[in-house]
This record gives sequence, C-alpha cells and structure tokens, in this order.
Amino acid sequence: MLHALVTAGPTIERMDPVRYISNFSSGKQGYAIANALKEQGINVTLVSGPVHLEEPQGMQVIHVESAINMHGACKELLETSTIDMAVCVAAVCDWRPQVYHRQKQKKQAHDEHATQTVTFVQNPDILHMISHHENRPKLVVGFAAETESMLDHAREKREKKGCDWIVANQVYVPRHHVEEGEFSVFNNEKNQLCLIKEDEVILFDLMDKYKAAKMLVAEMMGAGVK
Ligand code: C5P
Repeated sequence: MLHALVTAGPTIERMDPVRYISNFSSGKQGYAIANALKEQGINVTLVSGPVHLEEPQGMQVIHVESAINMHGACKELLETSTIDMAVCVAAVCDWRPQVYHRQKQKKQAHDEHATQTVTFVQNPDILHMISHHENRPKLVVGFAAETESMLDHAREKREKKGCDWIVANQVYVPRHHVEEGEFSVFNNEKNQLCLIKEDEVILFDLMDKYKAAKMLVAEMMGAGVK
C-alpha cells in the first residue's frame, strides 16, 4: 500500500502566552487532497496545523502548532516509515518571533504613540527538507500561493525547493468568480490550480477545492509511483 504524507493548514508562532502570528489558511485544500488520496486506497498521514475542520476519518492525523513542530513531525515520519509521496499544502509561517516571552508583554502606559519592535527569525523549510532527505519520497509536490507573476515565481520555487511538481495558485481569483466579500483563495470554497511539472504545465479550471484535489490526485496516480 502506498503511503502519502500531506501537510495542511497554517502554523501559528507564539510571541507570549496570549499572542501569536499566523496566516489565513483554512486547511480546506490540504484536507481535500488528503481525503482524495485516501479514496484512491492510499495510506495517508496528515500533518495539520490548527484548523476548524472536521477530523478526517480513515487516516492518521498528527496535529501540530508551529513550523518547528510540523518540521519535526514530518522528519520523524520520514525516518520511521516509508513515505512514497508527499504533498506540502501547509501555509507554513516563514518567520517566528525570535523570543518567546513567558509573561504577557505589557504596552507602554499613557503613550499611544509608542512603538513595539518584534524580531523574527526564519523557520525551517519543510518542503525543502523532504525534497532533500535521504528517504525522499518518489514524488514530492509543493504549493505556491502567488499574488503576481504566478508561473515565473512557481517555476523558480520548484527549482529552489527541489520538489518534483509545484502547484501554483493565484491568491486573488477574479472578482466575477466569487461571491461578494470572498476575494481570496484562503477560506474560499473554490480554487484554481496550475500544475507545473518539469516539462509540462496544466492549468485547471476554477473549481470546488475537493474537485481540484481529485484532479491533482488523478495526476499523482498517473505518475508511476510504485
Ligand atoms: O516559500 P513558500 O512558502 O512560498 O513555498 C510554499 C511551499 O513550501 C508550500 O508547499 C509550503 O507548504 C512549503 N513550505 C514549507 N515550509 C516552509 C515554508 C513553505 O514546507 N517553512
């Protein structure tokens, strides 16, 4: 039985006991891909950041919070199981606050013009780690959410990360395709994917995230991974 690793959702990076930075990822596209892989009879391990979605059935789900947690969970999985395919859909925070304060940080009283500086350090790149691991899965797929020059940036990303395929999606979809107020791919029911392989580019239509997941999984099933 083939074994696939899917990362999904955002990560959150704590600053103090009550504050964090994160992003708008809902996890919907990653969960849909995990479900679509399962429906093809694949053993799926889903490594998920914090989301508000129904727990998927029939697969192992590892819940994590930060990029460091997600990186550790994926690394451990590669070192303890044979992973045949990996799909990194998670919107991992590129940065985390350098210092975690054990006490809630106080504002400066009586000075509404006071500024506060937070220093961030870079998080480990999970897709890059998976692509370069000695137990590298045969097929490694990354995602690239872009706001401009989608194809060029995505192609560049494919090279830089060392993955086999990159799935690019425009963060903003055309206004007439979505209901009012829903202009971002994040937390949207629909997505338009563009699959970039080494020598082929496939642009899918704008469709429901689960349908988009099935299209991508159909491509993965045809990639000859045994
Ligand atoms: O560099 P960027 O974040 O745009 O790349 C997106 C791709 O890299 C996605 O597949 C995402 O899951 C993955 N990624 C990762 N670890 C990071 C940053 C991004 O796995 N620290």
